[in-house]
Amino acid sequence: MWFGVDIGGTSVKAAIVDDGGRLVAQQAIPTEAGRGPADLCLRLRETLRGMADACGMDPGVIRGAGVGVPAFLDLARGVVVEAINLGWREVPLAELLADVLGMPVSVDNDANLAALGEAWAGAGAGAHTVLCTTVGTGVGGGVVIGGRLHHGANGMAGEIGHMRVVREGGLLCNCGQTGCLETVASATAIVREARERQAAGMLPPDERIDGAADVARLARDHEAARRVLETAGRWLGFGLAQAAVVLNPDVIVIGGGVSKAGDLLLEPARAAFTESAQRLVAEATLLRLAKLGNGAGVVGAARLAMQRA
Ligand SMILES: [Zn+2]
Repeated sequence: MWFGVDIGGTSVKAAIVDDGGRLVAQQAIPTEAGRGPADLCLRLRETLRGMADACGMDPGVIRGAGVGVPAFLDLARGVVVEAINLGWREVPLAELLADVLGMPVSVDNDANLAALGEAWAGAGAGAHTVLCTTVGTGVGGGVVIGGRLHHGANGMAGEIGHMRVVREGGLLCNCGQTGCLETVASATAIVREARERQAAGMLPPDERIDGAADVARLARDHEAARRVLETAGRWLGFGLAQAAVVLNPDVIVIGGGVSKAGDLLLEPARAAFTESAQRLVAEATLLRLAKLGNGAGVVGAARLAMQRA
């Protein structure tokens, strides 16, 4: 058994995962990052004990822990270099948690571990080369080759959200560049475009548009909302095609909140992918929706712990 942890800005998901990637027990606790990493480590120990007790399990059968953090990390040292959403800098998280839990602890970026989870026990199971993308507020990504995460020189491999797909006149991205895939294919972009159409009278003025789910709902009755999702989907497919030519993946997994729009997003993404990717690359690649939902992170964290044991 393995302990998988996925730290988010507001909540932390914790789970006991077996050798086959199944969730044996799971629980979410508030992050309360302001109380500091040492405090969170103690609360994680209590959570693990509580979950083990509830399923009549001796905590001694848990052989290691993996932790996903929304941060830039020094992977070799297990140090959180900077986690903007948590307000943490230079935190030796792997060491802190290992001391508290009394077991080996490995850390990685949260998007990478979601990718590892999907590649191991989700939509990419059994495939050799898997590119995973998480389309939510931003567009994240991770690359898994032969069952292992590919980090690149400094952990930036697979960050497809920051491919500059709009070469001229693109919008400013959080990363400081303009025209990143994230500026045209994320939930943020979908909401922005839908609100513009609403302001132009193309969508009902009294409908609240706060997330991609609102746009997906409006798409049932309104062509303008369908067009917004189609445009975002086409940008996503175009970006994935560029990445696919480099990676030649067997499977591309599309997850994150926006993927809940289903075919409204996936169909245009598939079409743009097939048009833009080199033919032999396109023929070899399956585009699939993610399977594990928001459990992908803890499953991937458990897999990381397993690989480091
Ligand atoms: Zn960017």
